[in-house]
Amino acid sequence: MGEFDLIERYFKRPTARAALGIGDDCALLQPSPGTQLAISCDMLVEGRHFLSTIDPFRLGHKALAVNLSDLAACGAKPLAFTLALALPRADEAWLAPFSQGLLALADAHNCELIGGDTTQGPLNICITVFGEVPVVGGRSQALLRSGAQAGDDLYVSGTVGDARLALEVFRGTVSVPAPVFDSARLRLEQPTPRVALGLALRGLATSAIDISDGLLGDLGHILKQSGVGATVDTETTTNLIAAYAYYTGARGQLDLKPSPEQWLGWSLAGGDDYELLFTAPPAARDLVAAAALASQTPVTHIGHISRERGLRLVDGDGQSVANTFTSFDHFA
Ligand code: ADP
Ligand code: MG
Repeated sequence: MGEFDLIERYFKRPTARAALGIGDDCALLQPSPGTQLAISCDMLVEGRHFLSTIDPFRLGHKALAVNLSDLAACGAKPLAFTLALALPRADEAWLAPFSQGLLALADAHNCELIGGDTTQGPLNICITVFGEVPVVGGRSQALLRSGAQAGDDLYVSGTVGDARLALEVFRGTVSVPAPVFDSARLRLEQPTPRVALGLALRGLATSAIDISDGLLGDLGHILKQSGVGATVDTETTTNLIAAYAYYTGARGQLDLKPSPEQWLGWSLAGGDDYELLFTAPPAARDLVAAAALASQTPVTHIGHISRERGLRLVDGDGQSVANTFTSFDHFA
């Protein structure tokens, strides 16, 4: 199978939204009147961002999911994406499930594959995604990292820390019962981009970011760009690890238990969560709850923003917790 057969067979489909899709030198995309394009690019490298053992269907899903997560964090509606793919060989047993996983998520978000590049080389997947955000009265409705205000509530969507738990099981540093691992593994390999929540938070959240490198590290970007500080309740964030409930429930007697420090670290600095972290004024609490309901996405209040710079961690009793957590950095 040659390069062009491969594209034709696995990636080319009729386009509905784009003015021109795969097959020419450029794709053509017409954003709706009164909107601006939101553009983001994320690369996935084998061994760095995923393990070679990952099911190709899940990898196809994840490659697009991490990009859609960036659109979600901006409150942008997905439009289209391009796919640059380096493959060691044209392996149909890999390409078929990979493209199915990728295009199933694309269809779920009405986001079209409109072009790309295909080359032989070490497995590497690079997606650029395009979305649109309304401009109202000359002002972009995009959610930014820079708008958090002193007094705002701090929220996170969904669950955090389970992806890291799965990674640690793969690394052999911890062992958990099979059902706990299976659900954590799904969070690592097939994350859910919070697109509907991002859209519902437009005009409501004062700032937002998606958590890819760890909750505290990504919160740090909001704090720096907004020029504010924050307090985070670590008891609440630990309870947001889905797998944690297994141990705090009736089956809590198991001696395979990860330590309290491990749970704490996974929730605060686990990485690969792809949840939205955002701020909103206390007066908007009911509206945030309504946005969570409308987008069918759980949202939890985990702390607040303050004028005083820096990050403070507290436990359930409000006692200070030492911050020893470092988030992921490719070159650190
Ligand atoms: P060019 O040489 O002009 O860059 P190519 O021959 O590489 O174009 O690609 C032919 C067409 O196939 C282009 O429209 C390109 O966008 C598309 N394409 C190439 N690889 C992919 C891919 N992996 N997924 C989707 N479209 C692709
Ligand atoms: Mg090319």
